[in-house]
Amino acid sequence: MAKDPEVAIVGAGAAGLAAARTLIDAGLSVHVLEAKNRIGGRAYTESESVGIAWDHGAHWLHDQGRNFFTTFASAQNIPLEPVSENRWLWTGQDWASDFEKRDYDAYCDLVFDRIQRLGLDPQDKPVSDAQPPHFRYRTMFDSWYAALSGMEPDESSVHDDYRYSEDTGNARVLCGYGQLLAEYASGVPVTLSTPVQAIDWSANGVALETSDGTVKASAAIVTVSNNVLACDAIRFSPSIPVPYREAFEKIPLGGAEKIAIAFDKDVLGLSDAHLFFFHSTPKIARFQIRPFGENIAIAFIAGRFAREIANEGTDAMASFALSQLVDVFGADIRKSVTRVRPTDWCVDPYIGGGYSTARPGYADMRCILSEPIAERLYFAGEAHAIDAFGTVHGAYRSGVATAKRVAGQLHLELIGSL
Ligand SMILES: Cc1cc2nc3c(=O)[nH]c(=O)nc-3n(C[C@H](O)[C@H](O)[C@H](O)COP(=O)(O)OP(=O)(O)OC[C@H]3O[C@@H](n4cnc5c(N)ncnc54)[C@H](O)[C@@H]3O)c2cc1C
Repeated sequence: MAKDPEVAIVGAGAAGLAAARTLIDAGLSVHVLEAKNRIGGRAYTESESVGIAWDHGAHWLHDQGRNFFTTFASAQNIPLEPVSENRWLWTGQDWASDFEKRDYDAYCDLVFDRIQRLGLDPQDKPVSDAQPPHFRYRTMFDSWYAALSGMEPDESSVHDDYRYSEDTGNARVLCGYGQLLAEYASGVPVTLSTPVQAIDWSANGVALETSDGTVKASAAIVTVSNNVLACDAIRFSPSIPVPYREAFEKIPLGGAEKIAIAFDKDVLGLSDAHLFFFHSTPKIARFQIRPFGENIAIAFIAGRFAREIANEGTDAMASFALSQLVDVFGADIRKSVTRVRPTDWCVDPYIGGGYSTARPGYADMRCILSEPIAERLYFAGEAHAIDAFGTVHGAYRSGVATAKRVAGQLHLELIGSL
């Protein structure tokens, strides 16, 4: 691997890996510096913690009709599976009827229609302005919206939501989305466990200071999350312009966490099911029950509550998720629990949350993020994908688009120097 490459890339998540592949294909030398001891960032599959492969972060291939990883999986003969439509809604005492599920779905459809209409208004507003008051469904919708976007409707911009492209549907992959990304990244030169501490872009080119020395390059692509950038984990010299700093703060990552619970046998009775709840509290998880028929349940917690419980720690997360399952399936299931593994995205200093959402009034700031500084300092990542933010395929597209800009600029400079 070239120590001082033409392009240095900070972060080996979907955006960084896609940028690296694109630049290598364009004949440029790259050096990817990753803080963690693994690649993938928020797309990470592992099987050691609970004995079954599961995705700690991204698991669904959203917008499968236009998602690069659909094409990639097909080229690799890796089959994709449809997402299960098997939904179970727990009322607190019993399973909800089909009528109750349809009634709730109708409320959600109504709100999404109203978001689309509000999105046409020149004045940006919170998504919560699109919600009719409803004694039963409003809190449920809040939690569902937080699962989709990372933040509750009152903290999310309606313009941001409106610009997210209509989705062609979800697919999933047995080996895990993180593993699929790892297959794509095979052969990309990455140095692990090497956090970038500072970037000097004061002179020609850039100099990246790491715990293991300085890397010099003609340009850098920084793909770390907005929350990491907003807390000054990387020192820039000179400081980066104020509008970028404001964009990091106004398009933060919301909360998203998972808890995997493995059982020694099938004690839940459902297979490949989504379990969600009638609830009037924001403190709630939803579950994937026995995905792909495995004896595992995966709790998903989003929004403010995800951040709150992540701060309480992994024991609190495990105990909360299990007690919610016990409410439905009875206390005996505890005897069959073999292992439990919560994630820690919100408190991870190299990630800082789930996925980005613009605060009301700040959706336009996503465009600022994609502009290079001085033609040598570039940013990329899911937060840059105006119509696919918060996703792996959005991060991929941002990485590819940024890499093409960098390659174009470096070729221009080369021609100019001849
Ligand atoms: C719980 C959860 C569920 C999700 N579900 C889905 C889903 O189903 N489908 C979907 O499409 N998306 C989903 N997402 C979102 C998706 O995972 C992200 O949008 C995407 O992976 C982001 O990629 P990225 O490259 O922009 O950023 P990241 O993956 O965050 O990559 C940035 C990398 O930079 C590294 N880094 C940070 N600081 C430094 C430093 N100082 N020096 C060097 N390296 C550094 C980080 O360690 C990380 O590896 C989910 C996310 C979470 C958390």
